[in-house]
Amino acid sequence: MPDPEISDLITVPQAMQIIDAAEISPRSITIPLSDSSGLYLSADLKNDRDAPPFDKSLMDGYAVIASDLATVPRELAVIDRIAAGGSAARAIQPGEAAAIMTGAPLPAGADAVVPVESTEILAGNNRVLIRQSVPARKFVASRGSDALAGAVVLKSGSRIGPAQIAVAAAIGVVDLPVYAPASVAVLGTGDELVAPDKKPRGNQIRSSNNPMLMMLLQRYPCRAIDLGLVHDDPAIIEQRIRAGLDHDVLLVTGGMSMGERDFVPGILRKLGGEFLITKLRIKPGKPFVFAKMPGGKFVFGLPGNPVSAFVCTLCFVRRLLQRIAGGKPTVIYRVAPLAAELEPNGNRAFYQPAIFNGRVLAPLQWKGSADIYTLAQANALLIRPEHQPAQDVGASIEFIEI
Ligand code: AMP
Ligand code: MG
Repeated sequence: MPDPEISDLITVPQAMQIIDAAEISPRSITIPLSDSSGLYLSADLKNDRDAPPFDKSLMDGYAVIASDLATVPRELAVIDRIAAGGSAARAIQPGEAAAIMTGAPLPAGADAVVPVESTEILAGNNRVLIRQSVPARKFVASRGSDALAGAVVLKSGSRIGPAQIAVAAAIGVVDLPVYAPASVAVLGTGDELVAPDKKPRGNQIRSSNNPMLMMLLQRYPCRAIDLGLVHDDPAIIEQRIRAGLDHDVLLVTGGMSMGERDFVPGILRKLGGEFLITKLRIKPGKPFVFAKMPGGKFVFGLPGNPVSAFVCTLCFVRRLLQRIAGGKPTVIYRVAPLAAELEPNGNRAFYQPAIFNGRVLAPLQWKGSADIYTLAQANALLIRPEHQPAQDVGASIEFIEI
């Protein structure tokens, strides 16, 4: 069993340090653009050509020679109409203009665009009255002005989101070099548990943890599978944990404390686990195990109570998953003024469900680590460090959006 003397010393910041120092070896793979959300690039990506690839009109209007418009209004001959994707029939001479659409290439000879709002088309459609003069290059994006061919446009380590995928698509990289996301297995333990689609009998309850964790894990760079539930039977737990260890990271909920039916820590030991963390000074979430297993695998033993399992996954599991995927743990902490006063906190860091309305943070009444109903009302967790004194309304307090 974990040694309570050492393990009780572990604070939240220490636990984060231990998880952030755990030895991992990110692997590079290639993945289709559509599967890359939230993953981290494992190589620099370079522009395949200048962006934009030609001098481009930024407006619907008329391509002109700016020096033709020294005095306005001025009438010009319309010699061409150029759509996006099209090209000019010939170069523009002094006294001439070409109708041009946003995104179309500027014709040779022209050096500026006058927006259609500053013009008036004259009878016959082949002459235009320009009312406003423009400086050269106005409403023109010069070739290569966004990024030159060969420039690194996405650095190795960048996290792929909608903006990054837009760049990858623009440069034609449809198979992205990324670090492999961890494969994660989720296992619930407890004689009292039934799957959510089963009717509990007697004093059974439905497992909230499996679906909750599966959904929470969707936010992180990983690929998760649900291994379901096992009874508190050491042989069966061991068998299912062995199956879970086919994955990079295994999350086991329940059976992690000192109760006589808490078998998980003993089984992890038996399977060669090295316990890097055993217990945490955090509420909710005290029974918490972080173990390094043979073959570079990791197990998080999470508390059975769902609010605890939620908080521990958000605060700790997340960090390892982001690191395995080649990233750094993201900073999720924010600060807001309190909407209600708080009593002094005890000797464990306390993560309390709260509502952040965009301005202030309102704590919700804490009914304990099983109370998913209050958690479901919350959109934030208010963070109280160990031994934080009483806080007044308006005091700045840390929180996490959930
Ligand atoms: P344990 O950590 O196994 O001692 O369980 C602590 C509390 O969490 C007990 O009340 C369990 O019934 C409850 N619990 C354990 N696993 C789950 C689960 N998967 N879903 C909901 N509650 C659970
Ligand atoms: Mg249990």
